Amino acid sequence: MEFRAAVFDADRTLWDHYNISELVEPMKVSGDVLVDGTGNKVNLYPRVRETLSALREKGIILGLATWNVESITKRVLELFRLKFDIIISREYPYKFLMLSEFLLKAKRMGVEIRPEEVLYIDDRRDHFGYIWFHLGKVKCVEMWKEINDYSEILKIVNV
Ligand SMILES: [Mg+2]
Repeated sequence: MEFRAAVFDADRTLWDHYNISELVEPMKVSGDVLVDGTGNKVNLYPRVRETLSALREKGIILGLATWNVESITKRVLELFRLKFDIIISREYPYKFLMLSEFLLKAKRMGVEIRPEEVLYIDDRRDHFGYIWFHLGKVKCVEMWKEINDYSEILKIVNV
């Protein structure tokens, strides 16, 4: 399988916090740890940076699909200096809608991607059935169950 895009969930997939929409300013980042105004901590998981870089180097389009307030998502990504080509941050939990939006945005950027060319990584497998039903054969991987380390993502896409 040739993958052309990798789309990530955020909370508990990229970092250990379960809901970054709760974070308040001022937020500060030191290395892979973000601390917000009330002392809430967000730890980026190991090898996230290296994995995203390796995928990007191979020409894989990087997407984010997260149930969070968009301004906060963008702020956290900015502070961590994480870059995604397409960010879908919506205040509803429907990942299949976010993935449709991702495919549409890619198309508008001139990249037509078929569902089977998308790798989707999420710590919650309950989204996967809806994704398969509405979009088709997206390759969905349950983070921390099917794989336990970011380096395994590179094996899946053969990078
Ligand atoms: Mg999650």
